[in-house]
Amino acid sequence: MLRLFSRKPIHDATASRTADTEVKTTTCYMCACRCGIRVHLREGEVRYIDGNPNHPINKGVICAKGSAGIMKQKSPARLTQPLLRKPGSERGAGDFEPISWERTFEILTQRLGRIRATDPKKFALFTGRDQMQALTGLFARQFGTPNYAAHGGFCSVNMAAGMIYTIGGSFWEFGGPDLDHAKLFVMIGTAEDHHSNPMKIALGKFKREGGRFISINPIRTGYSAIADEWIPIRPGTDGALFMALLHELIGTGLIDRPFLQRFTNAPQLVVLDEGEREGLFAFDPHAGPPGDGRNPHNKLAWDMASNCVVTAYPEGNEQGRALALEGHYTLADGTHVAPAFQLLRERVKTTSPEWAETVTGIPAARIRQLARELGQTALHQAFELPIPWTDAWGKRHETTQGRPVAFHAMRGLAAHSNGFQTVRALAVLMSVLGTIDAPGGFRHKAPYPRHIVPNYRAFNDPSMVQPNTPLNAAPLGFPASPEELAIHDDGTPLRIDHAFSWEHPLSAHGLMHNVITNATRGDPYRLDTLLIFMANMAWNSTMNTMAVREMLNARDEAGEYKIPFLVVCDAFQSEMVAFADLVLPDTTYLERHDVMSMLDRPISEFDGPVDSVRVPVVPPTGQCKPFQEVLIELASRLKFPAFTLADGARKFKDYPDFVVNFQPQPGVGFLMGWRGKDGLQHLKGEPNPKQWEMYAKNNCVFQYHMPSDQQYMRNWNRPYLDFAMEKRWRQKNDPVQLAIYSDTLQSFRLAAQGKSRGRQPPDHLRGRIDTYFDPLPFWYPPLEQACTDTDAYPLAAITQRPMAMYHSWDSQNAWLRQIHSHNYLYVNSLTAADAGIGDGEWCWLESQWGKVRCMVRYSEAVEPGTVWTWNAIGKANAAWSLAPKADESRKGFLLNHLITEELPFKGGAISNSDPVTGQAGWYDVRVRIRPADAGEEAETSPQADARHSVQPDVRTL
Ligand code: SF4
Repeated sequence: MLRLFSRKPIHDATASRTADTEVKTTTCYMCACRCGIRVHLREGEVRYIDGNPNHPINKGVICAKGSAGIMKQKSPARLTQPLLRKPGSERGAGDFEPISWERTFEILTQRLGRIRATDPKKFALFTGRDQMQALTGLFARQFGTPNYAAHGGFCSVNMAAGMIYTIGGSFWEFGGPDLDHAKLFVMIGTAEDHHSNPMKIALGKFKREGGRFISINPIRTGYSAIADEWIPIRPGTDGALFMALLHELIGTGLIDRPFLQRFTNAPQLVVLDEGEREGLFAFDPHAGPPGDGRNPHNKLAWDMASNCVVTAYPEGNEQGRALALEGHYTLADGTHVAPAFQLLRERVKTTSPEWAETVTGIPAARIRQLARELGQTALHQAFELPIPWTDAWGKRHETTQGRPVAFHAMRGLAAHSNGFQTVRALAVLMSVLGTIDAPGGFRHKAPYPRHIVPNYRAFNDPSMVQPNTPLNAAPLGFPASPEELAIHDDGTPLRIDHAFSWEHPLSAHGLMHNVITNATRGDPYRLDTLLIFMANMAWNSTMNTMAVREMLNARDEAGEYKIPFLVVCDAFQSEMVAFADLVLPDTTYLERHDVMSMLDRPISEFDGPVDSVRVPVVPPTGQCKPFQEVLIELASRLKFPAFTLADGARKFKDYPDFVVNFQPQPGVGFLMGWRGKDGLQHLKGEPNPKQWEMYAKNNCVFQYHMPSDQQYMRNWNRPYLDFAMEKRWRQKNDPVQLAIYSDTLQSFRLAAQGKSRGRQPPDHLRGRIDTYFDPLPFWYPPLEQACTDTDAYPLAAITQRPMAMYHSWDSQNAWLRQIHSHNYLYVNSLTAADAGIGDGEWCWLESQWGKVRCMVRYSEAVEPGTVWTWNAIGKANAAWSLAPKADESRKGFLLNHLITEELPFKGGAISNSDPVTGQAGWYDVRVRIRPADAGEEAETSPQADARHSVQPDVRTL
């Protein structure tokens, strides 16, 4: 049975004082920073957790969340056995019977086997914040379904894609600010939840050494609270700020011209004449076909020294060349062209600080001053490190140029429907300052930089979805042209979430936030089974929460559930669990093996790759089984080719065995340390049966330090590029020229304009593609504004995760919920007073999609046009084993009730997402506030119960 709450004491810190303490090392997972921890055990019980001083990520530092991991172990909300919805009970009622794992596997094998043998796409696997996408993605691919993604589409895919399509890397796991050498650090749109301990350690050192820290954010919390200067900005307007900064920097000449000429596509000539090459780069036909973003080698530039056209590289990089960044030119065949930088210069002509002031709320004078600070610090305080290196064209540079301006940005930029172009504008801004993989600027972390566009095509061939057949490509990837979209001949989406379709062509992380809506509607088809891992889609991980809860129960005319079978795997009784037909109890991070792999999401440092593992420090609770083990077992029973020997026997005993022995390429595996039969090889080598033991003996981490001449300028660093290809982090050893101008985006735009010969979007999407696939960055208002009366809803509403809680599951953590058991709406004091709401009083917060009742707190740390709250603190009544009417349900609330998952579009609806990447537009909602009426209940509204009651009109959905 589902335990809804418990009053038993959950931890007696004074018990068993006499027993010996045993200390085991593993890797924290109370947030995604993956610090090394030491778990202190007495009589097999976790008594204490502290930071591991020998771990490269946190060097012994631990945060409140990390030390509170002990309470995760003790949680009364743990799921402890597989559960099957009772026959005849309603989905959502939480009426389950416990079953054995054998019965569980029988049910799944029989059901998934039937789907796989008939129509594999009817199985969908979507996962929350897991760190094993190399395995979950492989499972989906081997199953033969394209319907797979992790949570990135509703988290920060704009940050990943916007940067990767521009500089080949991004922030957080992919790269970050070099605060050891920076003098000015600008943080934009970042809360405390990403990059927690490492960022705090780096910031503390940076400030002690006199660095200047500016935070640009609508809200001043967390990191922003220790900034030297806080610049408040209206949500969704960061792109306008970047465009204005580019206007100033380019206008005043505070740019790194030599860097732009040699290391970016700024000098490459763009065709200006109308036609099928319009807006694409001119190319030398003798050096190969025009290609796309992946084949850039024959593009042209104008050499001012010889006053003639040359190939941009290698010819353009020869000694004595002077590539033009400005001007208009005519090629020998009469084609009119201009350098990409000229087009950028023209683009930013109108994006003045005065214009940006009207958009962002930041005074024009402050924007000008900021531009000066950025440019002068990057150029006039530049320094050189005595590190010689050789570039991709063989030129030896005796020193490495430092550019001491570092940026860091995250979801505040990403979670808007204009986020992709905003992030691109930031990446271009960083590029004109020459701060890419430079000391003091942005630095990559292996295996980044990727190629622009990365050499990973997403599965896109409908004819390859065949019974009992793995896909011929991974479900996720990076399209380089319309030909790589996952669509049918008529242009309709291949995937249930419409990823990689004309609606969201570059949706590199999928659109998990639309799966339930689409599947319920049968758009583009009905599913049979939806497996959700660690994502609370019935509550805080979904937009339009109450409607989605109804969708999960919706039935068709025949009385069948529209999503016929829902499997939920989680460690805790989240709101989603009650909606499951089958519940798979996962372990905690202290009870399982895990890998933070170079194939997936490693924990690399700037100076080289780092991977790490978790090893079980305590046995699984009850019948809990790690999800990885479930996948290995199912893949073996279903006889996926990669999991089966030639004689039909299973290939891998269990997950640890799989990690050691699975090789996507010879010598390459999930873990790069201690490879080879004797464990003496690193990075590449044969499988080592004792690899787990080696990690366990070495603080669960392997770190490789690159030689100093390979630590910087890695987009163009010849020894690094060769090394990275040899180690299979890259498929090619080409240089990665920064894409100031994106011919990839232009190829989509040409299709929309009907000018290219290949695939073209359906007519109703042509205008959308034409507008948003601009090859140069630009700012536009978030899409939701176009369908909102902003006079009626004048405020922006956003959320953040608090420093003490990373995931919704922290609300069942007995220590952490003492810090946040409920949430307030934080409103600028003037705004609240204007609305007639007193500090601590109840108010109604309304969008055009819904309303919530909540309590207001006055704040000076939020710009007046924005209201905000902590995310995922509010809970359904009695969910997560919290007591009925606990503060989380009575006083906590979700902003999700105000957010729609779809926007009106041409008489229909389309995902409330970025039109380029499909990133959920969480932070685009517009709201208004008013006081709650006297006599209203002093509790938040809407209220929901963990045991969901089916609404009478469900069948009409
Ligand atoms: S920062 Fe994150 S990974 Fe590190 S100790 Fe805290 S919760 Fe754990």
